[in-house]
Amino acid sequence: MKKQENIAVKSNIQPTHDGFYGKFGGRFLPEHLKSEFEKITEEFLRFKGNPQFNSELEYLLKHYVGRPSSIYFARNLSNKYGSEIYLKREDLNHTGAHKINHSLGEALLAKKLGKRKLIAETGAGQHGVAIATCAALMGLECDIYMGEIDVKKEKPNVDKMRILGANVISVKIGERTLKEAVDAAFEAYSLEYETALYAIGSVVGPHPFPMMVEYFQSVIGREARSQFLDLTGKLPDCVIACVGGGSNALGIFNGFLEDDQVKLFGIEPLGRGSGMGDNAASITYGKEGILHGFKCMLLQDDAGNIVNAYSVASGLDYPGVGPKHCYLNEIGRVVYDTISDKEALEAFFELSKLEGIIPALESSHAVAYAKKLAETKRYPKILVNLSGRGDKDIDYILKLKKNKKQ
Ligand SMILES: *Cc1c(COP(=O)(O)O)cnc(C)c1O
Repeated sequence: MKKQENIAVKSNIQPTHDGFYGKFGGRFLPEHLKSEFEKITEEFLRFKGNPQFNSELEYLLKHYVGRPSSIYFARNLSNKYGSEIYLKREDLNHTGAHKINHSLGEALLAKKLGKRKLIAETGAGQHGVAIATCAALMGLECDIYMGEIDVKKEKPNVDKMRILGANVISVKIGERTLKEAVDAAFEAYSLEYETALYAIGSVVGPHPFPMMVEYFQSVIGREARSQFLDLTGKLPDCVIACVGGGSNALGIFNGFLEDDQVKLFGIEPLGRGSGMGDNAASITYGKEGILHGFKCMLLQDDAGNIVNAYSVASGLDYPGVGPKHCYLNEIGRVVYDTISDKEALEAFFELSKLEGIIPALESSHAVAYAKKLAETKRYPKILVNLSGRGDKDIDYILKLKKNKKQ
């Protein structure tokens, strides 16, 4: 485990005008889309400062999503591992994860911009379901691009999206998974941008999407900071979140970035191990590169080819990662470390059995790291972002158990 000390930043970090966090981020786009992205940036900044936009969003977060999500002291887990472990319960949100927070923001923005349609990609279908939900709510059309392999694997989510009225488009090129789905969705968007908004699923993509998705997710950190103070009279000693693209992590970190005494840990998936193609730990094992219109730490081979990402948690298996995370790593404000499939699965069962909470496999990575940190006794109060619930993972877990028995 990493022992490196966090470095103070004293204030939250905003991107440059062109969307750079240090050398990461930016906007690498075909010429004809540049002015559209500038327009989206300007309009977002305008709406962000608009009290009516914010009060509409707050109303929906409260009455539709069910916010604020609670903070729960996990007494049994804490007793076992020796530090106080608290969970920010994003699993209690409508649709079962944090993704609804930014999906609502993107859908509301699309509506304000006069767009008719949301276009998005999805891997396991979690982002697709959240976007399809918000499109239904706002009366927008919805096209979800999904790799053919994922369409077959994630049938319950495909069925949900269709019930919600979305058009699920099966992508049959290349590996037929998430990366190709992003390529196809972006291609469609680049033809339909006048009437559609691309609704990206994390703090990734060309500027302003990383900044925008972070803003919509920052509600997690705002709530968590004040709830934690109310509950314990203190700030947590550290905050832990899993990192795929990095949206739930930036969401909760936002509440604590200016509190230098609060250590922040971003947990990447180690999958089966450190070999190429065995994990999705972009910051830990990646190199600088450009993917999907922005610069980040990227899993690639020596020749610069992008390597397929792997994790037991399909919400984490993206070969890149949000540019702000790359920057926070470089300046040392957040420590990035890894958790393997095996450790995540152990945490999945442990939280279920000890606390009666079935976590998403993604969130189980953060729980697994909390167990490790608790055992070091260095952090008396640990706050974990429980990004989602595990209902979606049950079929997979049962299959895994069955295969083990044979
Ligand atoms: C999608 C997903 C993640 C990973 O996305 P981030 O942008 O890294 O937050 C984590 N947890 C759950 C439950 C998810 O559905």
